[in-house]
Amino acid sequence: MTNPPSSPGKRKHIQVRGVVQGVGFRPFVYKLAHSLGLTGYVFNSSSGVTIEIEGGGLEVEDFLKTLKEEPPQLAEITQITVSEVEVQGGTGFSILSSHHEAGEFALVPPDAGTCDACWRDFGDSANRRYGYPFTNCTHCGPRYTIIRDIPYDRVTTSMASFTMCAACQAEYEDPEDRRFHAQPNACAVCGPSLLLVKGFVNEWSAVAAPAAVARASLGNCWFADKDALPIIRQARSLLREGKILAVKGLGGFLLACDAANEVAVSELRRRKRRPHKPFALMVRDLAAARRLCELSPEDEASLESPRRPIVILPRRAGSRLATGIAPGDNTLGIMLPYTPLHYLLFSDSPEMESEWPALVMTSGNLSEEPIVVSNQEALLQLGGVADWFLLHNRDIATRVDDSVVRTFEGRERVLRRSRGFVPQAIDLGLELEEVLAFGGELKNTFCLTKSRYAILSQHIGDLENYETMQFFEETLSKLKHIFKVAPRVAAYDLHPGYMSARMAMGSGIEHKIGVQHHHAHIASCMAENHLQGKVLGVALDGTGFGTDGRIWGGEFLLADFSGFARRAHLRNVLLPGGDAAVRQPWRMALSYLRDAFGQQMPNHLSFFPGIEERQVALVDTMLTRQIQTVETSSCGRLFDAVAALLGLASEVTFEGQAAIALEASADRGIGDRYDFEIEDGEPIILDLRPVIMAIVKDLSRSRRAGEISACFHNTLSVAIADVCGKIGAGDGVDQVCLSGGSFQNLYLLGRTVVELRRRGFGVFLHAQVPANDGGLSLGQAMIANQRIREGD
Ligand SMILES: [Zn+2]
Ligand SMILES: [Zn+2]
Repeated sequence: MTNPPSSPGKRKHIQVRGVVQGVGFRPFVYKLAHSLGLTGYVFNSSSGVTIEIEGGGLEVEDFLKTLKEEPPQLAEITQITVSEVEVQGGTGFSILSSHHEAGEFALVPPDAGTCDACWRDFGDSANRRYGYPFTNCTHCGPRYTIIRDIPYDRVTTSMASFTMCAACQAEYEDPEDRRFHAQPNACAVCGPSLLLVKGFVNEWSAVAAPAAVARASLGNCWFADKDALPIIRQARSLLREGKILAVKGLGGFLLACDAANEVAVSELRRRKRRPHKPFALMVRDLAAARRLCELSPEDEASLESPRRPIVILPRRAGSRLATGIAPGDNTLGIMLPYTPLHYLLFSDSPEMESEWPALVMTSGNLSEEPIVVSNQEALLQLGGVADWFLLHNRDIATRVDDSVVRTFEGRERVLRRSRGFVPQAIDLGLELEEVLAFGGELKNTFCLTKSRYAILSQHIGDLENYETMQFFEETLSKLKHIFKVAPRVAAYDLHPGYMSARMAMGSGIEHKIGVQHHHAHIASCMAENHLQGKVLGVALDGTGFGTDGRIWGGEFLLADFSGFARRAHLRNVLLPGGDAAVRQPWRMALSYLRDAFGQQMPNHLSFFPGIEERQVALVDTMLTRQIQTVETSSCGRLFDAVAALLGLASEVTFEGQAAIALEASADRGIGDRYDFEIEDGEPIILDLRPVIMAIVKDLSRSRRAGEISACFHNTLSVAIADVCGKIGAGDGVDQVCLSGGSFQNLYLLGRTVVELRRRGFGVFLHAQVPANDGGLSLGQAMIANQRIREGD
């Protein structure tokens, strides 16, 4: 008599959706099935991963539990469907070749920073990948940036031109190996190699390891064959001399220099024509980050996450950085090395001291053009900026900038969603039509919707030149192809001057839906918080075209996905001279003074010591006679005005500069606030004239700018909450969504959240998509989806 099996045999068919390809999912399934003695198979399909397992009922249950609870670290499972099928018998568990079904799509993984196991390989002198700058495995390395087509296989990536050596091939074919089907798998023998080239300012020449040099195909340049260290050491000695290096990374070129070298930093600013905008920094490790900034546990988690974003951190006093890194700012944007190549710019290995506290790592582009990706493009476009070029011979198939995040209330908030995040789809939890939302004008992203997902593009940039529009087009055709989306509806911003709106008009998509700017902001916040029904949305930003033809930007909207009512806004003031008023915040200060004081204007010239009297008089005439002016309720312009009154920014060179300076100056110990007025009506008007008058009075008493700034912030947050209180009581809503670029100001955001909660509101914020215009496209797509449903 034989023993019966511990539990009756079962066979299950399992469909897994989400980010499950290119992240080591099949070897994980293979090993798991083996360990439980299950038979069956696994394969990649165009809708994800398909599995069949057979064996004892308990083991099958164990398998499903582990699959759900402990998937590979880069995997993101959005759905698992399990069905019972007939028992087939059979032996062994196998990995089958990929299947493709029409109409479905699998989620393509984003790039991931080097994993711990690869750092160990890289740092171990006995390992064959010791010091190899392109070390990666199934848990880390380039993905989206090397993908030319789907399915994600080596032949459809820019690794296609590298034939694996026998050792790499063996790893690639071994399901037990960490590099099983790691498409970018490479080593010094067979993979990409470095090249160091002098800029053509003088002449072209290349430095490489003398013993290991081979003539290569890129014109008159030289490649190092095997050992990267001689080249890297040469690159470091150039940085030590204060030279500027263009470094080819994952998603594009970065410009690097020693962040402690005053001359190099100011030279980089001059050559890049970027006088003020803060430079991002790269530090070697967390310890180096802690020396420069205050880090919370959440900040550390963000810095070390596989996404490896730039994290905005409060700056410590007394660091030995050049003063020109982030003038007027009390924060620093810091990231950790996300490939071994970046690490090598600090030292050969952890045992060796880093030569600098930090390196400047700013996008390799000319101001406002897309990040440069090819070697040729770099040599041509960055020839006047970089002294030397650290190149490699793996092509970048997709331009992707570094992402930027900041933590607030213990959660990571994305400010720029690019490398490491894109093209990860956002699961919105409801079925969506195929829509293309074109986004805004500044910090543009676009958004495709399909199935339950929003697919947001990486940060495209400001749509103000041909190159950026080309970048938009190339990214759009790629994402449409990868995700098999054929949009039947186009959503666009109502601003007639926006290039994104014009692109929508010329897109060939017949059905177009215009969406008001601030409505899109609120819908974006609602979407990522999975909110339905009516909310009270507070959208504060610089510029958005209003339905009355004015420039909006201080808006309180009662909104859902189908529409909105403008319940309140900041009192309108005049914007003198369009763009000039944005570049010259003193113009807004004058406008606010005129509005507050009318004919009783104090001596306005005294407020703008650096500005020519004639110019001030001219703008004053524009204001009093309303020549070349439009009305605006912009919160960004309010911040500009106050910053200019306090002498913090009379002229600016990048968006948000005045607001950042004003936030940085605020004295955190000040609790008092100014008076303001709320004028009832439809809409309600938030009148801050008393604030401007009080600030003028404070200035005349020589109150410190930091105190005035804090007082101003305190006032605005109480005023916002009071207006919400009024609207909430009238309309019966108790959920508030905060959106718009002004809420990147954490002093304002923190205070506003506290004030709103004190009044009983549930407060919802952005986390996965930016509060700034980078998040607009998601809101546009949601609103368009709702209008289609309603038969628009
Ligand atoms: Zn790895
Ligand atoms: Zn190899």
